Amino acid sequence: MINLLVENFLKPKTLEEAYDMLISNKKNMVIAGGAWIKLSIKNVLGLISLDDLNLNKIEVKDDSIEIGSMVTLREVELSNHLNELYDGVLSSAVHKIMGINIRNLATIGGSVMGRFAFSDIYPPLLVMDTKLVFYKQGEISLSDFLANPKMEKDILLKIVIKKEEGRGFFKKVATTPLDFAIINIAVSKTLAGFKICLGSTPYIGALAKDAMIFINSKKVINEEVLDKTVELVLGELKISKNVRASKTYKEELASVYVKRGIRKVISDVN
Ligand SMILES: Cc1cc2nc3c(=O)[nH]c(=O)nc-3n(C[C@H](O)[C@H](O)[C@H](O)COP(=O)(O)OP(=O)(O)OC[C@H]3O[C@@H](n4cnc5c(N)ncnc54)[C@H](O)[C@@H]3O)c2cc1C
Repeated sequence: MINLLVENFLKPKTLEEAYDMLISNKKNMVIAGGAWIKLSIKNVLGLISLDDLNLNKIEVKDDSIEIGSMVTLREVELSNHLNELYDGVLSSAVHKIMGINIRNLATIGGSVMGRFAFSDIYPPLLVMDTKLVFYKQGEISLSDFLANPKMEKDILLKIVIKKEEGRGFFKKVATTPLDFAIINIAVSKTLAGFKICLGSTPYIGALAKDAMIFINSKKVINEEVLDKTVELVLGELKISKNVRASKTYKEELASVYVKRGIRKVISDVN
């Protein structure tokens, strides 16, 4: 049964109008694709549509790719520009989310703002250089946004990914293709070094910073370095059992796929 009770459906024509509506009452909220909201139990006074605010474009700039918050997951998946960035790490992660019908509806903005611990998009976004641009609060790094769950109400306008020559790897492990991840793993490599991220552990996606410092201090990546990197990843990121899998199984998956990811991003094969 769906328990979404909405008194007014609001269609602002400007961002200013939308923001004023959002902050005017704590029972007002933004709707993007609505795929998730419609499953929630909520009593909403004003549901604010972002449909008419021109937030649905992917724009390629000299040094970045800007994804409007209303761009659908399907558009992200099919974007040639995003497919070329870090071996298409974001597009391949999005491709694993539900079926095409949901991806045609769900937006990248709703996916970021949902703060879903099971998210398949945080790990690939975190291993790239990703910033969020909000109407009121301006630019915030994705890491800072995730670290601050109490952020004041705002409208996400776009996601900005720095264009870099980089390699990428993403793996979602799930019991069935339509399931949430048991765990997901992303790895990237640029001239600045490696980035390693685990998500759905079942905690929200996070970078393994100690492991990154360690591996980035090494000139040669051999088995010993891979083993130590994995040990650091497992030591610093929280992994727990949940309904999907035991802690031990998740750790085993993380160990295998972190190594596989590192090997992939340093290999000649795409
Ligand atoms: C059945 C189902 C299965 C799913 N499985 C997965 C999965 O396996 N992996 C995965 O990663 N994701 C999964 N998702 C999540 C999905 O990918 C989207 O993240 C989700 O639907 C939210 O996107 P939306 O456009 O529908 O947002 P909405 O439902 O419209 O909004 C979600 C939240 O974000 C807020 N919001 C939306 N846009 C903005 C904005 N621009 N500014 C401020 N706040 C905003 C809304 O107020 C609301 O709180 C699943 C979703 C569904 C419905």
